[in-house]
Amino acid sequence: MPGISIQHRREKIDEFMYLLSKEYGPFEEPRTLPPANELVFTILSQHTSDINSGRAYQNLMKTFETLEQVAEAEVTKIETAIQRGGLAKIKAPRIKSVLNEILDKNESLDLNFLKYLPLEEAIKWLTELKGIGPKSAGIVLNFSLGLPAMAIDTHIYRVSQRLNIIPKSKNVNKAHEFLQRIILPDQITKFHTAIITHGRKTCIAPLPRCNACVLKNLCPSKPGFDSKLKSSSKISAKNVKLTANKKKIIPHSPIPSEENK
Ligand code: SF4
Repeated sequence: MPGISIQHRREKIDEFMYLLSKEYGPFEEPRTLPPANELVFTILSQHTSDINSGRAYQNLMKTFETLEQVAEAEVTKIETAIQRGGLAKIKAPRIKSVLNEILDKNESLDLNFLKYLPLEEAIKWLTELKGIGPKSAGIVLNFSLGLPAMAIDTHIYRVSQRLNIIPKSKNVNKAHEFLQRIILPDQITKFHTAIITHGRKTCIAPLPRCNACVLKNLCPSKPGFDSKLKSSSKISAKNVKLTANKKKIIPHSPIPSEENK
């Protein structure tokens, strides 16, 4: 929707939020961990389920008690503690190095000072840490510190594009800035939770369940998916017909079929 005003996009988002809240709400409040702990949690949650990352985090904190101890620990010990979260060999050195980088930059693992920086500076501070992108920074700033930072994961990116909340031309980094401008600060957490839930349950990849979707009458992508579905069901009907015809021909074919060998 090039040329659409911010106001118009906000009105559309209000309608989406109203319907999504009716469908999936009330939404649980997100976890609130101290910011450095949340940063560790975001590393643990990469490429794994919420349940497994939660278990890995609990076990890490049970083993070491404080993040300062994690920063000093041997990588193999961290690896053992987070085993349940998967990819422990990659995540353990990443956690240790990010904690030490914070200590080098800040002399403390207390990141509450980020709350008092302008949002852009707080995002910059976090994304300058090795391996920390805008999504992790957004989670830390929004969940831990209540700042209006957007965290876009694969679900939010896909669903927002399908609903034309963000233009298709925006890459994921640009989408962060764009959504932060469009979504009102007090709606960011709710938007995050509602759109992720919708992306996991209904607006799935690659083919969404449009007929079961509460937004189907408002969604600009639905007609495209409907015709995709139609043509794929036509192709499968054609394939069924062809297979049936082939089966009829096979007995008269000079080439023996697999079935007749
Ligand atoms: S109508 Fe389809 S594409 Fe649009 S939001 Fe719903 S599930 Fe997603």
